[in-house]
Amino acid sequence: MSKLVLNPGKERSLLRRHPWVFAGSVARLDGRARPGDTVDVVADDGRVLGRAAWSPESQIRARMWSFAPDTVIDHAFFKRRVAESVARRATHPLLANESGLRLIHGESDGLPGVIADRFGDVVVVQLTGAGAEKWRDAIVAGLVQATGCTAVYERSDSDVRSLEGLGPKTGCVYGELPEGALTIVENGVRMEVDVVAGHKTGFYLDQRDNRRLTGLLSAGRSVLNCFCYTGGFSLQALAGGATSVLSIDSSGPALDGARRNMTLNPQLDAGRAEWMQADVFEALRALKSEGRRFDLIVLDPPKFAPSAAHADRAARAYKDINLFGFRLLNPGGILMTYSCSGGVGLELFQKIVAGAASDAGVDARILHRLSASADHPIGLAVPEGEYLKGLTVQVG
Ligand code: SAH
Repeated sequence: MSKLVLNPGKERSLLRRHPWVFAGSVARLDGRARPGDTVDVVADDGRVLGRAAWSPESQIRARMWSFAPDTVIDHAFFKRRVAESVARRATHPLLANESGLRLIHGESDGLPGVIADRFGDVVVVQLTGAGAEKWRDAIVAGLVQATGCTAVYERSDSDVRSLEGLGPKTGCVYGELPEGALTIVENGVRMEVDVVAGHKTGFYLDQRDNRRLTGLLSAGRSVLNCFCYTGGFSLQALAGGATSVLSIDSSGPALDGARRNMTLNPQLDAGRAEWMQADVFEALRALKSEGRRFDLIVLDPPKFAPSAAHADRAARAYKDINLFGFRLLNPGGILMTYSCSGGVGLELFQKIVAGAASDAGVDARILHRLSASADHPIGLAVPEGEYLKGLTVQVG
């Protein structure tokens, strides 16, 4: 097996089980390896630190499969890791009965570059690394075996694949998608999931707990849901007894999905829901100048900062929407605000939100602070990546 030899001192983060080897840490590759091949990762003093997938095109030159030097990385290894990931959710009291569930969350499950979400009988898989790409068949076989699903649909169309030198790949890799729309039930609300054309794998599962919290906080409140996508937060708010819900998104197809979700839930009062296609940055200003006010506002934007290099620009965008969020709240109102930007950690995000509250002249306190949900576990040494950060704050 080829050896990836590190520069002196660069073994330290790996010894703390950080799963990535950056280009600057690599002294040389002894032997030959193609993208995705398994290599031994070796410290400057010759110590073998574990085994990793080689990805010569990426700034992350290798992603660790194992920190044990002698682990055999083969078909059976991936089946085992997949089965363990699925079993962890199956035995988790908050997750065992969810019809929409993240089964594999990349590095946190020891499977860098692999995301797998289950929606009913269908599993959607997204492969974003050269190593994951190489072991596609084993990963898919492992998912079929561990879940008994009827279809595995691949959504490897994330732009991060280009950083690994990989093109997009989508389509069924096992079985066939059922006729008609897929639906899941989340906190008692039926939601359609478009695994073919929806965002990412079709649905933002990472917000499940926060959507539930929105439902619990919505009774008797007027709600504004910004960046609503297919209406997840909006429908939870209605189910929780919101008096009105105004939902905004710039995407027509997302709002079409939201309206379909409304009709899938005849138990909810559609008359209380208003759907608006608009740019949130502009809409917030318009609502302010119209003198509108709300009791609960949700801000769940797309990622503004894909990496730390974009953090400044992202910080300004977060500041802007949060400032307007605070300005549009009634006294005693609640702001639920989120970031999924890899370049903005929870601490920085809290600073931005605090700055927005201060500029808006409101006194705000945290009701709930979140950095990950149960089926998106973060490995202790795993970088923050794109996982969700969120604050629920109440103004005086
Ligand atoms: N809250 C949603 C997920 C939001 S994803 C849920 O719980 O499912 C982010 C959404 O923001 C996408 O639907 C995208 O269409 C929308 N979006 C992106 N930029 C926007 C903008 N400037 N104005 C309005 N919507 C925007």
